[in-house]
Amino acid sequence: MNFFDLHCDTLYEMFTKNKEIFKNDLNIDIERSLKYRPYIGCFAVWIPDNMRGKNAFDFFNKLSRKLYEQENLYRKYFKVCKSFEDIKNLKERQGIILTVEGSAALGGKIENVNSLYKSGVRIMTLTWNGKCEVGDGADFKGGLSDFGYEVVKKMEETGIIVDVSHASEKLFYDLSQMASKPFIVTHSNSQTICSHRRNLTDEQFETIKSVKGLVGITFCRYFLSDKKQAHFDDLLRHVEHFLERGGENILAIGSDFDGTELPVDISGIESIEKIYENFLKYNYSERLLDKIFFENAYNFMRLNLT
Ligand SMILES: [Zn+2]
Repeated sequence: MNFFDLHCDTLYEMFTKNKEIFKNDLNIDIERSLKYRPYIGCFAVWIPDNMRGKNAFDFFNKLSRKLYEQENLYRKYFKVCKSFEDIKNLKERQGIILTVEGSAALGGKIENVNSLYKSGVRIMTLTWNGKCEVGDGADFKGGLSDFGYEVVKKMEETGIIVDVSHASEKLFYDLSQMASKPFIVTHSNSQTICSHRRNLTDEQFETIKSVKGLVGITFCRYFLSDKKQAHFDDLLRHVEHFLERGGENILAIGSDFDGTELPVDISGIESIEKIYENFLKYNYSERLLDKIFFENAYNFMRLNLT
């Protein structure tokens, strides 16, 4: 099977724990990914909310350097993809797309949108949970700042896809009013099924659908269930809910591997095959599952990754 993952924090873990990409004890390594051909993973540079200004920009550079060092060592196995052409021409290799979680990585400077693009960033969330120069995350009530409007315009112009996972509801709608290109939510579930503030309301889901964006179903156990534990069944409930709302062509997976606590029956990238098979047991067609696990994200990139 193929697997396209819209979000993981493996790069952050690799950097802070000094691990290699090919083989490690994290949720994702290239060796375990080899049973999916291809595996395309979005590797995020996460900017913690206590890191701002030049520190944030420098931190981004350190982590992206780590990814390219690893690419030099293991280029036989994977490539950092910067265009849809790169994805299309992977042949036997896996693909990694460099992303940013928290536009605090810009250090408050508009010219750094270009620097990030040049470093290979192709998707960026506008916020993490807190506030940053661009606007408010899920823990707050404000929307896009003036600088935020400028940043979104620049991202669209440059070719960095806007991701509104972690955004406040106000910021989400500020963006939807002004965006001229499709935007995505890489790792959020349904707020109707699990009340967590990081999940999407049905109305937000409609908005993403109307712009032909993407919604990455995520394995974070707090976004799956309001109960103490989460299981595969919870994942199923979110997918069902979104499918009932016509999500067949915008649903994808955004695992959040290495960035969160997982349900009891999911351990890492090796679990993806089992999750796919579980859906089959619930009479999901392979056609539909292939869309969710790969094709919807792949087609989005075909249309939007220039
Ligand atoms: Zn996140």
